Amino acid sequence: METPESERIRLLVLTPEYRDFLWLGYLLEQDPAMAPELTWCPDLIDCEDLLSNAQFDVILWDCIFHGGSETEFLRYLTVSGRERPVIALGADPEYRLAPPMLAAGAADYLCRQGLDRWNLCRAVRCLWYREQLTGPEASHLGREVASGFINRDLFFDRLQQALLRAGRAGHSLALLHINLDDFRTLNESFGYQKSDQLMLKLAERIRQHLRRSDSLMRIGGDELAIIAEMVEDSLDISRIIRKVVNALNDPLTVDGQNVVVSASLGVATYPEAGDNPENLLRRASRAMFEAKRDPGTSYRFYDQQLHIAAGYQLRLEADLRNAIRGGELELYFQPRIDLATDGVRGLECLLRWNHPERGMISPDEFIPVAERSGLIVPIGYWVIEQACKRLQDAADLGYPGLVLAVNLSFRQFHDRKMTETIFRIIFNANVDTSLLELELTESAMMHDPEYAQRCLRELSQLGISFALDDFGTGFSSLSNLQHLPISLVKIDKSFVQELGKSADAEHIIRAIISLAHSLQMGVVAEGVETEGQLEFLRQQHCDEIQGYLYARPMPWDDLVQFLSNRNSAACLQQ
Ligand code: C2E
Ligand code: CA
Ligand code: CA
Repeated sequence: METPESERIRLLVLTPEYRDFLWLGYLLEQDPAMAPELTWCPDLIDCEDLLSNAQFDVILWDCIFHGGSETEFLRYLTVSGRERPVIALGADPEYRLAPPMLAAGAADYLCRQGLDRWNLCRAVRCLWYREQLTGPEASHLGREVASGFINRDLFFDRLQQALLRAGRAGHSLALLHINLDDFRTLNESFGYQKSDQLMLKLAERIRQHLRRSDSLMRIGGDELAIIAEMVEDSLDISRIIRKVVNALNDPLTVDGQNVVVSASLGVATYPEAGDNPENLLRRASRAMFEAKRDPGTSYRFYDQQLHIAAGYQLRLEADLRNAIRGGELELYFQPRIDLATDGVRGLECLLRWNHPERGMISPDEFIPVAERSGLIVPIGYWVIEQACKRLQDAADLGYPGLVLAVNLSFRQFHDRKMTETIFRIIFNANVDTSLLELELTESAMMHDPEYAQRCLRELSQLGISFALDDFGTGFSSLSNLQHLPISLVKIDKSFVQELGKSADAEHIIRAIISLAHSLQMGVVAEGVETEGQLEFLRQQHCDEIQGYLYARPMPWDDLVQFLSNRNSAACLQQ
């Protein structure tokens, strides 16, 4: 395949010997993707003219070509060559001549002895890439687009802007530096051009998975950077890391061949790792180099604390994925007591995770992980399925009117097939839908209120009822929600537990109950632990209560026992 004009590397070769010029050209052309364009400059007379008028990206300078001293001439080259990088070629071994050459302005020094095509091509490519990022032509748009690069000034500029925004809004920001492992081997097997395409494909794949507020940039031949703005905590960052890791896990195709690549990721966060672009990039790079020590795709945070936290979240997420398959999830049931009859009116289904190593993990810990990873969607359906099964069991055991309440997360509304799937589950289970209640929070409906309302309507047409969970902690007033098919309000336990301690809690609870009743909604108070709280709620005509005072959430078998004990107690009283 022809190399596009804009990707051809143009070299100015300063050597007195035509033989050497041919030899260098031969080495460079061994690499078909390189397609170099060589200009030969054999003597000093042409040199001045070529330096100022010829088009070239890199100067290849044979050290015997000079008029005076090597280092003097080198200085002259770097100035007259419009700051194009100079690769010096000499007879002396690298350890001897490289230091003075580099000190005098050479970008690289190579020893002619044993010079092979790989070393030469690598040196030229490397400098060419660097030129794309920092050289005067870097801002030349055509080039940027062709290679997918962003020039380093522009990158720092964007990072600076993002840092300013984060500073103003009091947000955190994460910089991810991604470096493809073993790019050299890729280059050797596929050539530069194909490896380049592979890099672009990979970048595109990662880009598709990022949020709109994250920006992805290619900052080097085998390097990408992601600026993730508005990150709240390590969970957000782990989510981005997971996406990059997933994007890397699937093979890429080059020339119809599947190629598996791995990369090292370094993460530095603002404000922890610094507040200026240079520091942040330096620290992300340092973290990335540390990640290189681990085999395969790996990541490191500059900040050790964050590294531990993010690692924990990612492991938890991976474990949770297995938990569904491995049957480690279980439903517990907490009774809701009807204050008018003192009977069990319903049961709230509450998830428990029996982790094989860590024992029972609380839903407060794993539900957020499930929500952010999207795993809550399949888990949520599993919970509804289980609840339907238990509805059947309850009827079989002689408790036909028991309501089962299931928590619905805001994230489940993101699944556009939600109502359809819930309908299918209920239909297959063949249960009385009026006994299924879904609990949701105000925030669940805030994200896309119209869509949420439509879901609620469709589901309520199936006979399902809705309860507003954790009421009082959000911002909406009940009257705003009156057009929604909500039949029950659950007062958040934080208010109930303040009873007797703060007069505010009493006022709020009183107000919620009277307003809910005026809107024909029932009221459940959560987290009732004491007789005092119970008494107050009874006086205020709260309909139902749920709390440790009566029962903790428990496994199904215990629940059956609990129901039968209450039944026999009730019989004895009669
Ligand atoms: P929630 O929906 O507000 O559930 C009530 C929580 O209060 C439960 O915590 C319950 O055990 C606890 N609780 C009940 N009575 C008392 C009491 O008297 N005192 C105190 N201190 N706590 C009481 P749990 O089971 O740890 O669940 C925590 C949260 O996890 C739930 O809060 C719910 O938001 C979420 N969750 C649990 N299961 C599911 C589920 O299947 N799906 C979704 N999306 N979320 C779930
Ligand atoms: Ca609930
Ligand atoms: Ca609640």
